[in-house]
Amino acid sequence: MPKGRIIVDVDKCKGCGLCLDACPLHLLELANDTVNKKGYQPMRIHTPEKCIGCANCAMMCPDVVITVEKL
Ligand code: SF4
Ligand code: SF4
Repeated sequence: MPKGRIIVDVDKCKGCGLCLDACPLHLLELANDTVNKKGYQPMRIHTPEKCIGCANCAMMCPDVVITVEKL
């Protein structure tokens, strides 16, 4: 069971990648097969079951794209 869950407001993401480095478990990536409404490759979580809900990613994002729920 994951300890946390992230909710990504995909169309607000500008694909800057800052959150990728903030995740201690390296669970985040930029989607290389899709673009959002702004034309950017948005961030996604590749292994959601490993999320610990630390919220580092959400704190790092300058555009408040990520919401974290502790489970
Ligand atoms: S909440 Fe923590 S563990 Fe989960 S994706 Fe964000 S930085 Fe990674
Ligand atoms: S979620 Fe935020 S920090 Fe991560 S790539 Fe998108 S805009 Fe950048």
